[in-house]
Amino acid sequence: MNDDYYELLGVSRDASTEEIKKAYRKLARTLHPDVNPDPEAAEKFKKVSQAYETLSHADKRRQYDMGGGPGMGGFPGGGGGFDFNDIFDMFAGASGMRGRSQGPVPRQRRGGDVLRRVKVDLREVVFGTEREVTFRTAVLCERCSGSCCEPGTSPTRCTACNGSGHVQRVQQSLLGQMVTMAPCPTCEGHGDVIDSPCTACSGHGRTATERSVTVRIPSGVENGTRIQLRGEGETGEAGGPSGDLFVELSVKDHEIFERVGDDLVTTIAVPMTTAALGATIPLDTFDGEQELDVRAGAQPGEEILLKGLGVTPLRRERRGDIRVVLDVDVPTSLSEEERELLEKFAALRGDETTRRKGHSGPFAKLRERLQNL
Ligand SMILES: [Zn+2]
Ligand SMILES: [Zn+2]
Repeated sequence: MNDDYYELLGVSRDASTEEIKKAYRKLARTLHPDVNPDPEAAEKFKKVSQAYETLSHADKRRQYDMGGGPGMGGFPGGGGGFDFNDIFDMFAGASGMRGRSQGPVPRQRRGGDVLRRVKVDLREVVFGTEREVTFRTAVLCERCSGSCCEPGTSPTRCTACNGSGHVQRVQQSLLGQMVTMAPCPTCEGHGDVIDSPCTACSGHGRTATERSVTVRIPSGVENGTRIQLRGEGETGEAGGPSGDLFVELSVKDHEIFERVGDDLVTTIAVPMTTAALGATIPLDTFDGEQELDVRAGAQPGEEILLKGLGVTPLRRERRGDIRVVLDVDVPTSLSEEERELLEKFAALRGDETTRRKGHSGPFAKLRERLQNL
């Protein structure tokens, strides 16, 4: 059972591809069923062909050499309805070789995936939402329920290939006649023929239509987040499995809030008098109007936190915060009276200019904070 491919072909382990080909041709001349009617020879020819198939492809040969030689480490070696090619395709990654699959090819095919883009606004990101997504897609044919046949009829066995889905093709080659398998042209390899295709779907088992799906969009999604809805894509051909629906989200910019992680950041500019005196300021949030306490003596760049009013992150309970960055407006023009008052105010305080090193002032801090957002 455990045939060594090199032994089978009678070549050394370091034989070149050319040597392997030569050895195979020589063996084929005596073993090919066309020249040797002995069933034992036919069996040997099969094995030799398998050996050649493997050793003549660099990839497969490497695979074979690594797999520990004969027997393929646990796999039964050749014979007994065992499809060697499939095993190799599994390892070598379907390298598109001849005579791959045995037996008829099913009509069923998986439907395609569908991608839809949906725009959501920041409020919907904060609380989550639902959206109806409408798209043109393939659905199961109601008339034939995916059987592809007119109701009351069914596929009949293909007479050209006797239901096997493939036909033998005889070719002349170096070795004389070579018999290869090809998909049956009459049934396109399916093994059966649909004599009366369903009139609603022209025998495809699915029809095109507009469909709507309600998509739950959880809170905390981000720009580019894709939501996958399994089986909500195109229905497969001939009743095959459906593809998936992917909903890709894009989040619209908000005019007031910027999302930073789970927090919402906004800036308010207060007059310098408000910053000095302190005040309670109404602030619109997604949870309605809130009161923002600006302490007396608040500094530019200072951050005021409104806890728990930010975004609920995906798969978590706790909400982020609203961070309000304080900006202080300094008047750019003063009336006569205002000037007098401010001068009086300055004199009263004995206001003097303070020097600080480098960019250490509050505006530098503000700038830094905004850059780090
Ligand atoms: Zn139909
Ligand atoms: Zn056929």
